[in-house]
Amino acid sequence: MLPRKDLFELPEGVIYLDGNSLGPLPKGAQERAMRTISQEWGGELIRAWNSADWMSLPQKVGDRIAGLIGAAPGSVATGDTLSIKVYQALAAALKMRPGRKVILSDKGNFPTDLYMAQGLIKTLDAGYELRTPAPEDVADAITDEVAVVMLTQVDYRSGRLHDMQAITEKAHAAGAVMIWDLAHSAGALPVDLAGSNAEFAVGCTYKYLNGGPGAPAFIYARPDIVEDVEPALAGWLGHAAPFAMDPAYSPAMSTERLRVGTPPVVQLSLLDAALDVWDGVSLSDIRAASIDLCETFIAEVEARCPMVTLASPRDAQQRGSQVSFAFDPGYPVVQALIDHGVIGDFRAPNIMRFGFTPLYIDQADVIRAAEILETIMTEGLWKDPKYHQVSKVT
Ligand SMILES: *Cc1c(COP(=O)(O)O)cnc(C)c1O
Repeated sequence: MLPRKDLFELPEGVIYLDGNSLGPLPKGAQERAMRTISQEWGGELIRAWNSADWMSLPQKVGDRIAGLIGAAPGSVATGDTLSIKVYQALAAALKMRPGRKVILSDKGNFPTDLYMAQGLIKTLDAGYELRTPAPEDVADAITDEVAVVMLTQVDYRSGRLHDMQAITEKAHAAGAVMIWDLAHSAGALPVDLAGSNAEFAVGCTYKYLNGGPGAPAFIYARPDIVEDVEPALAGWLGHAAPFAMDPAYSPAMSTERLRVGTPPVVQLSLLDAALDVWDGVSLSDIRAASIDLCETFIAEVEARCPMVTLASPRDAQQRGSQVSFAFDPGYPVVQALIDHGVIGDFRAPNIMRFGFTPLYIDQADVIRAAEILETIMTEGLWKDPKYHQVSKVT
């Protein structure tokens, strides 16, 4: 185990297998946010934009994220939500390929990524088309009609991992722009974004980066193209000189042009503190430990619970940092698990999903979680009607 468990506030008796959806609270984060609220906002008022350097926080945090995804300092901007960042990347990418009308994604992509594409297509009203083949058919669907290939590297439901290098090369060979969504990659596995040569990447920070609910998203633009990136959401903080208050827009000469409006300072301060847990951590060590945890979980669950079916790739190299099992009905099983101290989540229609984050999960936790699942399945505890009431968030 990587000796990091004590860096998180984890409730006693809980095995947390949902850090892929909302990372836990890192210990220094609360104190940092309190300082931002009371001393900086409370004490300094508007002066804090300068005295506490709030204005540089988005770049500072962006540089720290860049270090975790194989990107150069200065190439990552933070703010807004991932849905917004998907829209920005897509709009900018389409501008780079006038004459081509196809956005290629896959039907396993997270719905909001597809919805943002559909919304943009409607707004543009210029004959654009979204194609969503099955994930395994995407590479073959890259043709010279495609303007943009937009994929999420790790499938949120199954954990299936796209080959970032191979697909980016194929997209470029066909003349398309490549956008990677790293929502389930950042902090989960090593990513060589600069090495992939993709034009854009986006991601969120409340999953494996533990930035807290509603933490700001990030967007990367390849440094050599950034000056040609046309911002669809031309906000004042993406302007070259926001405080010149020029009525005409002229974008910053860096990824900063993909900023929109006022940064979420309290959330950014939480995220900045949360990123401290990565100091001195190697993503390849994290990946090796994550694979061990996932392999143990699969072996233990398959030995104990023959009624569930693995819904993630069996080959660890084809999988992100999560393991999914299909079972009908999965929802009450997950509720029973949560009631017994094992927090995972459910994704419709029948997927029980478990994230493995070696910073705070060890082999003993994994075996204990499998034992509890076995009890719930073999004793039919999930059949209790109280586990069948569906909440707003699953
Ligand atoms: C989690 C996730 C999102 C969420 O988007 P928000 O705008 O932050 O709500 C989007 N896309 C993918 C691929 C995700 O995994």
